[in-house]
Amino acid sequence: MINNISPQLDKELERRTGQKVRDCYQCRKCSAGCPVAFAMDLLPHEVMKLVQYGLQERLLGCSTVWLCASCETCSTRCPNDIDVAGVMDGLRQMALEKGAAVGQPEIVLFHDSFLRGIKLLGRTNETVLMGQYKPLSGRLLDDMGLAAVMMLKGKIKLLPRMVKDRKAVRRIFDAAGKSGG
Ligand code: SF4
Ligand code: SF4
Repeated sequence: MINNISPQLDKELERRTGQKVRDCYQCRKCSAGCPVAFAMDLLPHEVMKLVQYGLQERLLGCSTVWLCASCETCSTRCPNDIDVAGVMDGLRQMALEKGAAVGQPEIVLFHDSFLRGIKLLGRTNETVLMGQYKPLSGRLLDDMGLAAVMMLKGKIKLLPRMVKDRKAVRRIFDAAGKSGG
């Protein structure tokens, strides 16, 4: 069960990301430059405000943190040097760790499928990615026509290629797991 309000939320995010969200003075430059703002249920400056208020349940269940494309435009624009994209990352981690009912479960599934493919091959492959994602997403037959066209044009390779040193990739995943990544 996730508490609705956590007075320690900004401190927990600071511990995870090194960012001092309490320094945000709501100038909105982050939101003004965000290319995904049109689709978000909370704008980036609103995320920062809710962190200051400690509204944990609302934040960990929002769509915004999953729609964020990690482009870092917001972090570059912030006059206060707050890495807003890093805060979004921290909130994603927290949502997963705390088992929150996330706003965009299919995006979580996509991330998971992507990472499992990288762990397996050391690189991404569209066929493997879709083979993992589509059956679990409940959209097995969506985009089949598009996939066929892309295969015919050689844009999607049926047979995946692997990196030579897959053990090194596993070591990276193991190290990230140990450090809570
Ligand atoms: S740009 Fe920085 S200071 Fe301005 S609202 Fe966004 S996070 Fe806050
Ligand atoms: S990193 Fe995320 S929140 Fe920031 S501008 Fe890009 S999409 Fe928007």
